[in-house]
Amino acid sequence: MKIKDLPAPVTASKADWLPGTTWLGFTPTDGELASYNKCQSTIQRQFGSGYVIEYITETFQKPNNGFEGDPRYIADREAHKERAGRLIAVHKLKTTSRSLETILGPDEFKLLQDMWSQQGKRYRWSVAFPIVESYRIRDPRKAKEVLGPDAYARLYAHSSATLRPLRPEEQYLIADLEIERIDTKNALIGIEDEFNLAERSEINPDTQRAIGRDLAALEGMEAERLAKIKRRAAWIADKFIRYRQKAGTFFCDDCTFDPGALAAELGVKARGFLDVHHKNPLDEGVRYTTTADFALLCPTCHRVEHVRLRKVKKSMSE
Ligand SMILES: [Zn+2]
Ligand SMILES: [Zn+2]
Repeated sequence: MKIKDLPAPVTASKADWLPGTTWLGFTPTDGELASYNKCQSTIQRQFGSGYVIEYITETFQKPNNGFEGDPRYIADREAHKERAGRLIAVHKLKTTSRSLETILGPDEFKLLQDMWSQQGKRYRWSVAFPIVESYRIRDPRKAKEVLGPDAYARLYAHSSATLRPLRPEEQYLIADLEIERIDTKNALIGIEDEFNLAERSEINPDTQRAIGRDLAALEGMEAERLAKIKRRAAWIADKFIRYRQKAGTFFCDDCTFDPGALAAELGVKARGFLDVHHKNPLDEGVRYTTTADFALLCPTCHRVEHVRLRKVKKSMSE
């Protein structure tokens, strides 16, 4: 697939000298809680609901004294060489109240600060965003080549502790880069944080019933976890429906039936004429699913889709 096929635009870029694999970290101006919160909200505003493209800097930093010969540092430096100056990945970040220390565990966090803390300030990268969805850029090219010298200079000439929002013309320049999905260990952090959000939110009972049926495929999972997974999926499905209504795209994704005019004529709500359908139920609890995992279908297309899925399942078990 290409960057332009992602369900949301790439809204910002992060310059790093080490590729982020499970989280992207940002350093607040000081160690106070207010700075921590300010840094977190700035970054969150910059990526919005979009993706972040990762750029690897041309230069590599030196670690704190005593770590120049450390095998981890040497391995990191070698890994950096191959990627220097290139656009390497696209990530979806998740806002979480967990600090980097909680995400990494105290030992790894301590090691990271021992190696890289600046002048004894032990909060480097302490504002962390777990990567819940990630794509490797196939054939990573030099950023200067892809973006041209002007955009390159604007985005990466000065080192920055925050993200660089992308302009529409820059989004256009990266739209055709080929990407490939890779596994993300931290998807579970995103999923589990949302279990709690879904628990506290009101969800349309029709949506809950429809999602409950689609997720019947997950039977056999431990009951308490299954209930949480179903509730989170229904919560996302509700968001998906509201989004489609607001965007004026409330029609069947298969046959394009649009109930708008009919509903108006009958004086009823259009919502009752379309079903929400989960396209990838088996990915629930495994991958960080989003509104892109759902479809709107009219009842006939929905029925046909389920017959088709049953046939596929049957032919696979034969
Ligand atoms: Zn239809
Ligand atoms: Zn369905």
